[in-house]
Amino acid sequence: MLPLVALVGRPNVGKSTLFNVLTRTRDALVHDEPGVTRDRHYGVCRPEGRRHFAVVDTGGIAGEDEGLVGATTRQARAAAEEADLVLFIVDGREGASALDDEILAWLRKTARPTLLVVNKTDGLDSDAAINEFSRYGFSDAVDVASAHRRGIDELIDEVIGRLPEEGTQVELDSDPDRVRIAFIGRPNVGKSTLVNRLLGEERMIASEVPGTTRDSVAIDMERDGRLYRLVDTAGVRRKSRVDEAVEKFSIIKTLQAIEQCQVAVIMLDATEGVTDQDATVLALALDAGRALVVAINKWDGLTDYQREQAEAMLARKLGFVSWAEAVRISAKHGSGLRELFRAVHRAHASATRVFGTTEVNNALEAAYASNPPATVRGHVAKLRFGHPSGTNPPTFVIHGTRLRTLTESYKRYLENFFRKRFKLVGTPVRFVFKEGS
Ligand code: GDP
Ligand code: GDP
Repeated sequence: MLPLVALVGRPNVGKSTLFNVLTRTRDALVHDEPGVTRDRHYGVCRPEGRRHFAVVDTGGIAGEDEGLVGATTRQARAAAEEADLVLFIVDGREGASALDDEILAWLRKTARPTLLVVNKTDGLDSDAAINEFSRYGFSDAVDVASAHRRGIDELIDEVIGRLPEEGTQVELDSDPDRVRIAFIGRPNVGKSTLVNRLLGEERMIASEVPGTTRDSVAIDMERDGRLYRLVDTAGVRRKSRVDEAVEKFSIIKTLQAIEQCQVAVIMLDATEGVTDQDATVLALALDAGRALVVAINKWDGLTDYQREQAEAMLARKLGFVSWAEAVRISAKHGSGLRELFRAVHRAHASATRVFGTTEVNNALEAAYASNPPATVRGHVAKLRFGHPSGTNPPTFVIHGTRLRTLTESYKRYLENFFRKRFKLVGTPVRFVFKEGS
């Protein structure tokens, strides 16, 4: 499971700055796309080659319990109360304050493992800054300057060292022949209807994966001769009572499901179009670099006119993930499911395709030959050679000179060229540009 780390501290100590530093995605491109609604309180820290963890910025803990502010505070508290680790952030410039004392008293009551993080230590003596907080009784503390990205790697080391053991849960990827799918989406789009239908149809061959916890059930299933593992379906499948349908939408659960799957199927409700909450879920999947299929559900209930309207809306709002296939389905009647699973397969095949260095180089040469980069202020980028550097998503390293002058539109051209040439659908594609050889 993706562990959860909560950032707690009084206003202005630098929580959101630290949150951004920890969760910033490698895909600056994706970041800036119009249509991507980013949740600024939940994200995932993905240090290369190391354990990933979810980060929640609680915004603030102390303060009002009433009204709207109260609701935010209560959610922040709930997040901190269920965190595997709390980072108690304080301001090294201002030293301990009465508000810090209050938060600490509350933290002691929650009894979550807590690490003291002294921020804004740029230009300060670290030991002296930490000493300011010695009366809080933490045996050790980490000093950082989030705004300057200083001390962050050390902080990540400390965090990973303090996370609970990964446990004995069955490795979700224990069976490489199974495509791991997660059905994600906001409440009421039809996730449980779909999962229940799938399991109903396939009852004879569906089975829970032994060793997975009650909270996170993985289910193996076979369909049209192919093997699948549905990850994190517990919340979806068990839902029976009506009031559970309106239970609080859990971003953490969504993040965990995305982390565990190879292909995320994001479900939308055709009768409601693409809401902000849908866009937030979509952004979480994009940040993770997941292969993606868009399932537009409840297609059964629409008139021809409404279908036209829905198509136009989808084209407008989902233009930025045009590489993802969209499938119209009805979970209720079971229509469109064959096409849905075909799309899942195409996405999985593209995401996990292994490339050879020669074909990557040939593609790069062909892309370069038919459209070399333009001269920018007297300089022109040279693309010298490339090689594959990973799957899921497919990643290509391009070496060359003056790569800094490459425009976003040229990078997009390269991406589209590679997509077309290698017939990649349903997966993001990443390029890493390296100056020199
Ligand atoms: P939050 O209210 O706890 O989320 O705090 P913010 O992240 O919004 O930061 C509050 C202010 O502190 C902003 O003006 C930041 O630029 C500044 N800040 C954050 N981190 C640092 C740091 O490491 N050094 C310095 N000097 N300022 C920082
Ligand atoms: P979840 O919260 O995403 O798991 O959504 P549910 O599966 O609980 O579905 C929410 C509501 O939408 C229920 O009343 C379902 O009966 C209804 N629903 C789900 N799928 C369809 C569909 O394909 N067509 C129609 N018309 N209604 C559907």
